[in-house]
Amino acid sequence: MFDALIDFIRGQYRTNEFIPLHAPVFQGNEKQYVLETVDSTFVSSVGAFVDRFERDMAAYTGSPRAVATVNGTAALHISLLLAGVRPGDLVVTQPLTFVATCNAIAYCNAEPVFVDVDRHTLGLSPTALEEWLEENAYLDPEGTCRTKSGGRVLRACLPMHTFGHPVALDELMDVCGRWNLALVEDAAESLGSLYKGRHTGTFGCVGTLSFNGNKIITTGGGGMILAGEALGIRAKHITTTAKQPHAYEYVHDEVGYNYRLPNLNAALGCAQLESLETFIASKRALAESYEAFFKGYSAQFVREPEGCRSNYWLNAIICENLAQRDALLQSSNQAGVMTRPIWKLMTHLPAFANALRGGLHNALWLEERVVNLPSSVPPEQLA
Ligand SMILES: *Cc1c(COP(=O)(O)O)cnc(C)c1O
Repeated sequence: MFDALIDFIRGQYRTNEFIPLHAPVFQGNEKQYVLETVDSTFVSSVGAFVDRFERDMAAYTGSPRAVATVNGTAALHISLLLAGVRPGDLVVTQPLTFVATCNAIAYCNAEPVFVDVDRHTLGLSPTALEEWLEENAYLDPEGTCRTKSGGRVLRACLPMHTFGHPVALDELMDVCGRWNLALVEDAAESLGSLYKGRHTGTFGCVGTLSFNGNKIITTGGGGMILAGEALGIRAKHITTTAKQPHAYEYVHDEVGYNYRLPNLNAALGCAQLESLETFIASKRALAESYEAFFKGYSAQFVREPEGCRSNYWLNAIICENLAQRDALLQSSNQAGVMTRPIWKLMTHLPAFANALRGGLHNALWLEERVVNLPSSVPPEQLA
């Protein structure tokens, strides 16, 4: 399988050079917009492209408000605060994610609780969540969800749409509703992915996006908070130093954050957003080719869940076992075709090794088997 796969990938990208996992594509107005900010001197925290990027992203996702931030981790930090997470609280999340998800919980002086993922979405399992809550939690007379042992507050649930594939949102919203958990979506990897026709990141009380260099569109570094009117206005306020509008006085009405996205980065984002649907179409075509390739092999291609349109940000396969995974990683990387294993489970990192958790059978199974394949938009597929 390995030689055939390497040939197949080289065929997609038509090159004998090194093939990265994910490279950005600048084919539209990127240079023009960035130069406009330089010419205007408005490269920093004030400028027309920030407002435009926020408006364009709200319109694209159908979110009432979108607030640009300096990166996706900052967006997550603020989103958890907006969801009511306070020091000492617990936030339920998945162990199979990028570390930023859990770092944001720690920034709130809260702690993660890890429950298992589903094998078909690679994301938080509503069944595992419900089972863990049944066994370990109760609703107090005020309706606050607490742990049976110690009475600690379970405030929010933070699922992540792994590699662009939406989690089972209907079922998760149902469980969160009954257990009074605020739903916050980490949609850093799933910009443009739809669940039953609606954009991921717009289902919870808050959702977050990332525009890091390896994501489906990039601003160099950047992120976005998606929220309704009231939380969106609040998000803008506390990410911009909590400054009250005034002609000249510096009035800051609480401790705020300097998490603003610079105008220079927003300019890049406005241009990238114009290409997003083209990127998604190309990535979906690439995913279809990968899926067809793997029909004849024992490794299983990860498809979008039923009822969803995935952006297929990163293509992934599930190897038969750890030995096959290691052999694939070894031979492809040696051949200059970049592949990577899925993240180590958060429970295996020193910072989160002592966190509360349920059974993590699927997460452990996937940790040993999942490999990401090169997923950049192939050059010949660009318009
Ligand atoms: C990329 C990413 C983030 C945010 O990352 P930043 O680099 O801070 O923009 C958060 N969560 C997940 C799952 C991610 O993949």
